[in-house]
Amino acid sequence: MATCTGCSLLCEDIEADVSGGALSHVKNLCRKGHGHFQAAFTERTVPMVDGVRVDLEEAVAKAAEILRNAKSPLLYGWSNSTLEAQAAGLDLAERIGATIDDTSSFCQGILMERILSGKIASCTLDDVRNYADTSIFWGADPSSSHPRHLSRFSYYPRGEKRQKSYEEERTCVVVDVRRSATANLCRKYYFRISPGADGEFVEAILSALDGKVPKVGDKKKMIELAGILKKTEWGAIFPGLGMIYSMQEKMDLFEALIARLNEITTFRVVPMVGHYNMRGFNELLRDKTGFINSVSFKGGAAVHGPEHSIVAAAKNSDAALVIGSDPLSSLPVGTARALARLPLIAIDPRRSLTTDAASVVIPSAISGLEAGGTAVRMDGVKIKFEPIMKTDLPSDEQILRRILEAI
Ligand code: SF4
Repeated sequence: MATCTGCSLLCEDIEADVSGGALSHVKNLCRKGHGHFQAAFTERTVPMVDGVRVDLEEAVAKAAEILRNAKSPLLYGWSNSTLEAQAAGLDLAERIGATIDDTSSFCQGILMERILSGKIASCTLDDVRNYADTSIFWGADPSSSHPRHLSRFSYYPRGEKRQKSYEEERTCVVVDVRRSATANLCRKYYFRISPGADGEFVEAILSALDGKVPKVGDKKKMIELAGILKKTEWGAIFPGLGMIYSMQEKMDLFEALIARLNEITTFRVVPMVGHYNMRGFNELLRDKTGFINSVSFKGGAAVHGPEHSIVAAAKNSDAALVIGSDPLSSLPVGTARALARLPLIAIDPRRSLTTDAASVVIPSAISGLEAGGTAVRMDGVKIKFEPIMKTDLPSDEQILRRILEAI
Protein backbone atom coordinates (compact mmCIF):
# COMPACT_ATOMS: atom_id res chain seq x y z
CA MET A 1 0.00 0.00 0.00
CA ALA A 2 1.36 3.44 -0.93
CA THR A 3 0.74 6.95 0.39
CA CYS A 4 -0.04 9.71 -2.08
CA THR A 5 1.72 13.01 -1.47
CA GLY A 6 -0.32 14.75 -4.16
CA CYS A 7 -2.13 16.87 -1.57
CA SER A 8 -2.45 17.26 2.19
CA LEU A 9 -5.00 14.45 2.54
CA LEU A 10 -2.04 12.03 2.30
CA CYS A 11 -4.26 9.11 1.24
CA GLU A 12 -2.64 5.96 2.62
CA ASP A 13 -4.72 3.38 0.79
CA ILE A 14 -3.18 3.65 -2.68
CA GLU A 15 -2.57 0.49 -4.64
CA ALA A 16 -0.41 0.92 -7.72
CA ASP A 17 2.01 -1.16 -9.72
CA VAL A 18 4.96 1.00 -10.78
CA SER A 19 7.17 -1.75 -12.14
CA GLY A 20 8.52 -1.54 -15.68
CA GLY A 21 8.70 2.26 -15.71
CA ALA A 22 4.94 2.79 -15.96
CA LEU A 23 1.94 3.14 -13.69
CA SER A 24 -0.60 0.31 -13.81
CA HIS A 25 -3.21 -1.56 -11.73
CA VAL A 26 -4.10 1.61 -9.86
CA LYS A 27 -6.67 1.63 -7.06
CA ASN A 28 -7.93 4.53 -4.92
CA LEU A 29 -5.83 7.19 -6.64
CA CYS A 30 -7.82 10.28 -7.67
CA ARG A 31 -7.08 12.04 -10.96
CA LYS A 32 -4.81 14.56 -9.21
CA GLY A 33 -2.90 11.78 -7.44
CA HIS A 34 -2.69 9.90 -10.73
CA GLY A 35 -0.96 12.92 -12.28
CA HIS A 36 1.36 13.11 -9.26
CA PHE A 37 2.38 9.45 -9.60
CA GLN A 38 2.62 9.68 -13.39
CA ALA A 39 5.01 12.63 -13.10
CA ALA A 40 7.59 10.23 -11.65
CA PHE A 41 8.20 9.13 -15.23
CA THR A 42 8.43 12.54 -16.90
CA GLU A 43 10.32 15.84 -16.68
CA ARG A 44 12.83 14.69 -14.07
CA THR A 45 15.69 16.99 -13.13
CA VAL A 46 19.39 16.20 -13.52
CA PRO A 47 22.30 17.70 -11.53
CA MET A 48 23.36 21.01 -13.11
CA VAL A 49 25.69 23.90 -12.31
CA ASP A 50 25.29 27.07 -14.39
CA GLY A 51 23.38 25.17 -17.07
CA VAL A 52 26.01 22.44 -17.44
CA ARG A 53 25.31 18.86 -16.46
CA VAL A 54 27.55 17.68 -13.61
CA ASP A 55 27.55 14.79 -11.19
CA LEU A 56 25.53 14.97 -7.99
CA GLU A 57 28.53 15.54 -5.72
CA GLU A 58 29.64 18.53 -7.75
CA ALA A 59 26.17 20.08 -7.55
CA VAL A 60 26.09 19.53 -3.78
CA ALA A 61 29.59 21.06 -3.40
CA LYS A 62 28.59 24.12 -5.43
CA ALA A 63 25.40 24.54 -3.36
CA ALA A 64 27.47 24.40 -0.17
CA GLU A 65 29.91 26.96 -1.57
CA ILE A 66 27.09 29.41 -2.46
CA LEU A 67 25.51 29.11 0.98
CA ARG A 68 28.84 29.31 2.81
CA ASN A 69 29.71 32.56 1.03
CA ALA A 70 26.29 34.18 1.42
CA LYS A 71 25.79 36.87 4.08
CA SER A 72 21.97 36.71 4.01
CA PRO A 73 20.88 33.35 2.60
CA LEU A 74 17.21 32.45 2.19
CA LEU A 75 15.86 28.89 2.47
CA TYR A 76 12.37 28.53 0.98
CA GLY A 77 9.84 25.83 0.08
CA TRP A 78 9.55 22.98 2.62
CA SER A 79 5.82 22.29 2.28
CA ASN A 80 6.53 19.44 -0.15
CA SER A 81 9.24 17.87 2.00
CA THR A 82 9.09 15.30 4.77
CA LEU A 83 9.43 16.22 8.43
CA GLU A 84 12.89 14.67 8.38
CA ALA A 85 13.96 16.96 5.52
CA GLN A 86 12.39 19.96 7.23
CA ALA A 87 14.36 19.20 10.40
CA ALA A 88 17.57 19.06 8.34
CA GLY A 89 16.54 22.39 6.76
CA LEU A 90 16.16 23.96 10.20
CA ASP A 91 19.61 22.69 11.18
CA LEU A 92 21.00 24.26 8.01
CA ALA A 93 19.20 27.57 8.64
CA GLU A 94 20.61 27.77 12.17
CA ARG A 95 24.10 26.80 11.04
CA ILE A 96 24.38 29.47 8.34
CA GLY A 97 22.18 32.13 9.98
CA ALA A 98 19.62 31.99 7.19
CA THR A 99 16.08 33.23 6.79
CA ILE A 100 13.68 30.30 6.47
CA ASP A 101 10.14 30.48 5.14
CA ASP A 102 7.58 28.20 3.57
CA THR A 103 4.55 28.57 1.34
CA SER A 104 2.26 29.22 4.33
CA SER A 105 3.47 32.82 4.61
CA PHE A 106 1.72 33.40 1.32
CA CYS A 107 -1.38 31.26 1.92
CA GLN A 108 -2.86 29.43 4.92
CA GLY A 109 -0.35 30.62 7.55
CA ILE A 110 -2.60 33.35 8.93
CA LEU A 111 -5.23 30.74 9.81
CA MET A 112 -2.83 27.93 10.70
CA GLU A 113 -1.22 30.12 13.35
CA ARG A 114 -4.60 30.53 15.07
CA ILE A 115 -5.28 26.79 14.83
CA LEU A 116 -1.91 25.81 16.31
CA SER A 117 -2.17 28.35 19.11
CA GLY A 118 -5.65 27.07 20.01
CA LYS A 119 -7.46 30.34 19.23
CA ILE A 120 -9.69 28.54 16.73
CA ALA A 121 -11.00 25.08 17.58
CA SER A 122 -9.97 22.35 15.15
CA CYS A 123 -10.42 18.58 14.86
CA THR A 124 -9.25 15.62 12.82
CA LEU A 125 -10.80 14.58 9.54
CA ASP A 126 -11.69 11.28 11.20
CA ASP A 127 -13.86 13.30 13.63
CA VAL A 128 -15.50 14.92 10.61
CA ARG A 129 -16.24 11.51 9.08
CA ASN A 130 -17.65 10.18 12.34
CA TYR A 131 -19.64 13.15 13.63
CA ALA A 132 -20.15 16.00 11.15
CA ASP A 133 -23.68 16.66 9.98
CA THR A 134 -22.77 20.00 8.36
CA SER A 135 -19.64 20.67 6.28
CA ILE A 136 -18.97 24.16 4.96
CA PHE A 137 -16.49 24.68 2.13
CA TRP A 138 -15.59 28.35 2.15
CA GLY A 139 -13.52 29.70 -0.72
CA ALA A 140 -12.48 26.12 -1.34
CA ASP A 141 -13.20 23.65 -4.11
CA PRO A 142 -12.09 20.26 -2.80
CA SER A 143 -13.51 18.44 -5.83
CA SER A 144 -10.61 20.01 -7.73
CA SER A 145 -7.96 20.61 -5.05
CA HIS A 146 -8.44 17.61 -2.72
CA PRO A 147 -10.55 15.27 -4.84
CA ARG A 148 -11.11 12.56 -2.17
CA HIS A 149 -12.05 14.96 0.65
CA LEU A 150 -15.80 14.55 0.23
CA SER A 151 -15.68 10.79 -0.31
CA ARG A 152 -13.24 9.93 2.48
CA PHE A 153 -14.27 12.40 5.15
CA SER A 154 -16.74 15.21 4.73
CA TYR A 155 -19.86 14.25 2.77
CA TYR A 156 -20.26 10.76 1.36
CA PRO A 157 -18.79 8.34 3.94
CA ARG A 158 -20.80 6.61 6.65
CA GLY A 159 -19.30 7.53 10.00
CA GLU A 160 -19.80 6.26 13.52
CA LYS A 161 -22.70 8.69 14.15
CA ARG A 162 -23.53 9.37 10.51
CA GLN A 163 -24.63 6.03 9.14
CA LYS A 164 -27.23 7.67 6.89
CA SER A 165 -24.57 9.99 5.54
CA TYR A 166 -25.24 12.42 2.68
CA GLU A 167 -28.58 10.80 1.80
CA GLU A 168 -30.18 11.92 5.06
CA GLU A 169 -27.74 13.13 7.67
CA ARG A 170 -25.10 15.33 6.10
CA THR A 171 -25.56 18.86 4.76
CA CYS A 172 -22.97 20.38 2.48
CA VAL A 173 -22.67 24.17 2.21
CA VAL A 174 -20.43 26.05 -0.25
CA VAL A 175 -19.51 29.73 0.02
CA ASP A 176 -17.63 30.89 -3.04
CA VAL A 177 -17.32 33.62 -5.63
CA ARG A 178 -18.03 31.16 -8.45
CA ARG A 179 -20.05 28.03 -9.04
CA SER A 180 -17.20 25.52 -8.62
CA ALA A 181 -17.34 21.76 -9.09
CA THR A 182 -18.01 21.43 -5.33
CA ALA A 183 -20.72 24.12 -5.50
CA ASN A 184 -22.41 22.06 -8.22
CA LEU A 185 -22.37 19.01 -5.95
CA CYS A 186 -23.74 21.01 -3.00
CA ARG A 187 -25.96 23.28 -5.09
CA LYS A 188 -28.85 23.34 -2.62
CA TYR A 189 -26.79 25.41 -0.22
CA TYR A 190 -24.46 27.29 -2.52
CA PHE A 191 -23.92 30.90 -1.40
CA ARG A 192 -22.41 33.09 -4.06
CA ILE A 193 -20.49 36.10 -2.74
CA SER A 194 -18.62 38.90 -4.49
CA PRO A 195 -14.80 38.77 -4.50
CA GLY A 196 -13.52 40.26 -1.24
CA ALA A 197 -16.94 40.17 0.44
CA ASP A 198 -16.19 37.33 2.89
CA GLY A 199 -15.97 39.75 5.83
CA GLU A 200 -19.44 41.13 5.06
CA PHE A 201 -20.71 37.57 4.77
CA VAL A 202 -19.34 36.75 8.25
CA GLU A 203 -21.04 39.87 9.66
CA ALA A 204 -24.30 38.86 7.98
CA ILE A 205 -24.14 35.36 9.53
CA LEU A 206 -23.45 36.86 12.97
CA SER A 207 -26.45 39.18 12.60
CA ALA A 208 -28.72 36.36 11.44
CA LEU A 209 -27.56 34.13 14.33
CA ASP A 210 -28.55 36.93 16.74
CA GLY A 211 -31.99 37.27 15.14
CA LYS A 212 -31.18 40.59 13.43
CA VAL A 213 -31.86 41.36 9.80
CA PRO A 214 -28.61 40.65 7.91
CA LYS A 215 -27.22 43.39 5.65
CA VAL A 216 -26.96 41.32 2.48
CA GLY A 217 -28.90 41.13 -0.77
CA ASP A 218 -30.62 37.79 -0.19
CA LYS A 219 -31.77 38.12 3.44
CA LYS A 220 -34.05 35.08 3.21
CA LYS A 221 -31.22 32.79 2.16
CA MET A 222 -28.95 34.14 4.91
CA ILE A 223 -31.63 33.51 7.54
CA GLU A 224 -31.97 29.98 6.12
CA LEU A 225 -28.19 29.51 6.54
CA ALA A 226 -28.38 30.72 10.15
CA GLY A 227 -31.14 28.15 10.69
CA ILE A 228 -28.92 25.35 9.30
CA LEU A 229 -26.03 26.42 11.54
CA LYS A 230 -28.22 26.51 14.65
CA LYS A 231 -29.66 23.06 13.93
CA THR A 232 -26.22 21.56 13.32
CA GLU A 233 -25.15 19.03 15.96
CA TRP A 234 -21.47 18.90 14.94
CA GLY A 235 -20.19 21.08 12.13
CA ALA A 236 -16.92 21.61 10.29
CA ILE A 237 -15.73 24.59 8.27
CA PHE A 238 -13.04 24.15 5.63
CA PRO A 239 -11.57 27.54 4.61
CA GLY A 240 -9.69 27.61 1.31
CA LEU A 241 -7.42 30.19 -0.22
CA GLY A 242 -10.36 32.19 -1.61
CA MET A 243 -11.50 32.91 1.92
CA ILE A 244 -8.00 33.42 3.35
CA TYR A 245 -6.96 35.99 0.73
CA SER A 246 -10.23 37.85 1.17
CA MET A 247 -10.21 37.90 5.00
CA GLN A 248 -6.52 38.63 5.81
CA GLU A 249 -6.81 41.54 8.31
CA LYS A 250 -10.37 40.47 9.19
CA MET A 251 -9.38 37.10 10.58
CA ASP A 252 -10.48 38.25 14.06
CA LEU A 253 -14.00 38.43 12.66
CA PHE A 254 -13.81 34.82 11.51
CA GLU A 255 -12.48 33.85 14.95
CA ALA A 256 -15.47 35.64 16.50
CA LEU A 257 -17.84 33.70 14.23
CA ILE A 258 -16.35 30.36 15.30
CA ALA A 259 -16.56 31.40 18.98
CA ARG A 260 -20.23 32.41 18.49
CA LEU A 261 -21.08 29.16 16.70
CA ASN A 262 -19.50 27.19 19.54
CA GLU A 263 -21.76 28.97 22.02
CA ILE A 264 -24.71 27.50 20.11
CA THR A 265 -23.37 24.10 19.04
CA THR A 266 -20.07 22.46 18.01
CA PHE A 267 -18.11 23.83 15.06
CA ARG A 268 -14.52 22.98 14.14
CA VAL A 269 -12.20 24.45 11.51
CA VAL A 270 -9.74 22.56 9.29
CA PRO A 271 -7.76 24.71 6.83
CA MET A 272 -7.69 23.33 3.30
CA VAL A 273 -3.91 23.09 3.17
CA GLY A 274 -2.67 22.38 -0.35
CA HIS A 275 0.89 21.05 -0.11
CA TYR A 276 1.24 17.70 1.56
CA ASN A 277 3.39 18.78 4.51
CA MET A 278 2.89 22.52 5.00
CA ARG A 279 1.41 21.91 8.42
CA GLY A 280 4.39 19.73 9.35
CA PHE A 281 6.77 22.62 8.68
CA ASN A 282 4.57 25.05 10.64
CA GLU A 283 4.46 22.69 13.65
CA LEU A 284 8.17 21.93 13.53
CA LEU A 285 9.24 25.58 13.30
CA ARG A 286 6.71 26.58 15.97
CA ASP A 287 8.07 23.93 18.36
CA LYS A 288 11.59 25.24 17.83
CA THR A 289 11.04 29.01 17.68
CA GLY A 290 7.44 29.83 18.64
CA PHE A 291 6.70 31.00 15.07
CA ILE A 292 5.17 29.04 12.21
CA ASN A 293 7.01 30.72 9.30
CA SER A 294 9.12 33.74 8.22
CA VAL A 295 11.98 33.28 10.69
CA SER A 296 15.51 34.62 10.47
CA PHE A 297 18.42 33.01 12.34
CA LYS A 298 20.82 35.80 11.37
CA GLY A 299 22.66 36.79 14.52
CA GLY A 300 21.82 33.49 16.26
CA ALA A 301 18.41 33.95 17.86
CA ALA A 302 15.21 33.26 15.90
CA VAL A 303 13.46 36.45 14.83
CA HIS A 304 10.06 36.51 13.14
CA GLY A 305 8.36 39.15 11.02
CA PRO A 306 6.97 40.03 7.59
CA GLU A 307 10.43 41.24 6.58
CA HIS A 308 11.49 37.58 6.79
CA SER A 309 8.69 36.30 4.55
CA ILE A 310 9.58 35.13 1.05
CA VAL A 311 8.14 38.27 -0.53
CA ALA A 312 10.47 40.61 1.41
CA ALA A 313 13.41 38.25 1.92
CA ALA A 314 13.74 37.48 -1.80
CA LYS A 315 14.69 41.14 -2.28
CA ASN A 316 17.05 41.32 0.70
CA SER A 317 18.97 38.06 0.35
CA ASP A 318 22.16 37.35 -1.54
CA ALA A 319 21.52 33.64 -2.21
CA ALA A 320 18.55 31.29 -2.01
CA LEU A 321 17.87 27.59 -1.71
CA VAL A 322 14.43 26.49 -2.90
CA ILE A 323 13.25 22.97 -2.10
CA GLY A 324 10.19 21.21 -3.56
CA SER A 325 8.61 24.45 -4.70
CA ASP A 326 8.28 26.52 -7.84
CA PRO A 327 8.11 30.12 -6.62
CA LEU A 328 9.06 31.51 -10.03
CA SER A 329 5.71 30.22 -11.33
CA SER A 330 3.54 30.72 -8.27
CA LEU A 331 4.67 33.94 -6.55
CA PRO A 332 4.14 37.56 -7.67
CA VAL A 333 6.34 38.61 -10.54
CA GLY A 334 8.41 41.05 -8.39
CA THR A 335 9.30 38.24 -5.96
CA ALA A 336 9.99 35.81 -8.79
CA ARG A 337 12.27 38.33 -10.50
CA ALA A 338 14.17 39.01 -7.26
CA LEU A 339 14.70 35.27 -6.74
CA ALA A 340 15.78 34.72 -10.32
CA ARG A 341 18.51 37.35 -9.92
CA LEU A 342 20.08 35.50 -6.96
CA PRO A 343 22.50 32.59 -7.00
CA LEU A 344 19.68 30.06 -6.77
CA ILE A 345 19.89 26.43 -5.64
CA ALA A 346 16.89 24.26 -6.53
CA ILE A 347 16.33 20.84 -4.97
CA ASP A 348 13.47 19.18 -6.80
CA PRO A 349 12.61 15.84 -8.37
CA ARG A 350 10.94 17.55 -11.32
CA ARG A 351 11.72 20.31 -13.78
CA SER A 352 10.02 23.65 -13.27
CA LEU A 353 10.52 27.29 -14.10
CA THR A 354 12.53 27.59 -10.86
CA THR A 355 14.85 24.68 -11.67
CA ASP A 356 15.31 26.07 -15.19
CA ALA A 357 16.42 29.43 -13.75
CA ALA A 358 18.58 27.96 -10.95
CA SER A 359 22.37 28.20 -10.84
CA VAL A 360 22.48 24.79 -9.16
CA VAL A 361 19.95 21.99 -9.63
CA ILE A 362 20.00 18.95 -7.36
CA PRO A 363 17.58 16.16 -8.28
CA SER A 364 15.88 14.35 -5.42
CA ALA A 365 13.74 11.28 -4.91
CA ILE A 366 9.96 11.83 -4.86
CA SER A 367 8.62 11.53 -1.31
CA GLY A 368 6.01 8.81 -0.97
CA LEU A 369 7.03 7.15 -4.21
CA GLU A 370 10.83 6.88 -4.06
CA ALA A 371 11.61 8.06 -0.52
CA GLY A 372 9.98 7.32 2.80
CA GLY A 373 9.42 9.68 5.70
CA THR A 374 6.79 11.33 7.85
CA ALA A 375 4.35 14.14 7.12
CA VAL A 376 1.50 15.92 8.89
CA ARG A 377 -1.93 15.79 7.26
CA MET A 378 -3.98 19.02 6.99
CA ASP A 379 -5.73 18.11 10.26
CA GLY A 380 -2.54 17.48 12.27
CA VAL A 381 -2.46 13.68 12.01
CA LYS A 382 1.07 12.36 11.46
CA ILE A 383 1.41 9.91 8.55
CA LYS A 384 4.48 7.72 8.06
CA PHE A 385 5.15 6.27 4.63
CA GLU A 386 7.54 3.95 2.84
CA PRO A 387 8.79 4.23 -0.73
CA ILE A 388 7.26 1.98 -3.38
CA MET A 389 9.80 2.61 -6.16
CA LYS A 390 13.55 2.06 -6.21
CA THR A 391 15.82 4.96 -7.12
CA ASP A 392 19.48 5.92 -6.90
CA LEU A 393 18.50 9.51 -6.13
CA PRO A 394 18.95 10.77 -2.56
CA SER A 395 16.00 12.03 -0.53
CA ASP A 396 15.63 15.73 0.32
CA GLU A 397 16.89 14.96 3.81
CA GLN A 398 20.02 13.19 2.53
CA ILE A 399 20.81 16.09 0.17
CA LEU A 400 20.45 18.68 2.95
CA ARG A 401 22.63 16.64 5.32
CA ARG A 402 25.29 16.38 2.59
CA ILE A 403 25.19 20.15 2.05
CA LEU A 404 25.50 20.67 5.81
CA GLU A 405 28.53 18.37 5.92
CA ALA A 406 30.14 20.14 2.99
CA ILE A 407 29.62 23.53 4.64
S1 SF4 B 1 -6.96 13.25 -2.61
FE1 SF4 B 1 -4.86 14.06 -2.57
S2 SF4 B 1 -3.65 12.55 -1.39
FE2 SF4 B 1 -5.62 11.58 -1.96
S3 SF4 B 1 -5.15 10.47 -3.86
FE3 SF4 B 1 -5.93 12.51 -4.45
S4 SF4 B 1 -4.10 13.81 -4.65
FE4 SF4 B 1 -3.50 11.97 -3.56
